[in-house]
Amino acid sequence: MKFHVITLFPKMLDSYTNESILGRAQKNKIISIKCYNPMDYTEDSKYGKLPRRVDDKPYAGGPGMVVRAEPVMAAIKAAIGRKRNYGVVHFAPRAEKFTTEIAKQIAQESLLKKSAITDLVIVCGRYEGIDSRINEMYPGRTLSIGDYVLTGGELPAMVVIDSVTRQLPGVLGDTDSREEQRIAAGKYYTRPEVIKHKGKTYSVPRVLLQGDHKKIEQWRRDNS
Ligand code: SAM
Repeated sequence: MKFHVITLFPKMLDSYTNESILGRAQKNKIISIKCYNPMDYTEDSKYGKLPRRVDDKPYAGGPGMVVRAEPVMAAIKAAIGRKRNYGVVHFAPRAEKFTTEIAKQIAQESLLKKSAITDLVIVCGRYEGIDSRINEMYPGRTLSIGDYVLTGGELPAMVVIDSVTRQLPGVLGDTDSREEQRIAAGKYYTRPEVIKHKGKTYSVPRVLLQGDHKKIEQWRRDNS
């Protein structure tokens, strides 16, 4: 899966996506992540004294600025090139909620033989949002990562990349079902068995130390 992120702030993604599991998935060529900055696709001349401008006032007034369509169109064009099998993700705070189910769908679409979506273009909004004509020109799935308003689409992009990537074979080095079980368990312990803190003793639940797998499964279900 190749992720193409359209963002005014590419550096925001670097530190997160180059570490740990996402970093390894890139090294192992299971995924690639490339950013395209609309700022690099501005037409300076139109704005005279305001070169490299990516935002403008909203039509009919209103607070804040809107990201101009043209630099975003150019950035998306650069990302897509001649590719045909690509999907597009847009973001909006009140859109369809992004879930593990959607991450699985996207990952599975990338694994289909004929109609595989090999490239996912992720468009990060900023300010009041991007000129809405971008959604019409490049239709795709508009997603929200939660009922709160963020300052931009970069965190949502990282959320989507992270959760889609962990659904791709070979990323976690474990079977999917085991991984999903790990999600289901809500409590985890590791050594040491006993920790003292402010005069109290905190112990690992006995059931986890006794090797009775049926009881452990039951405990995990009860504590998920
Ligand atoms: N004016 C918009 C509104 O009232 O819905 C808010 C725009 S928000 C400040 C800027 C950008 O951040 C959005 O275009 C979107 O790309 C992203 N964003 C903010 N909150 C988000 C959320 N909960 N989920 C996904 N993207 C979000």
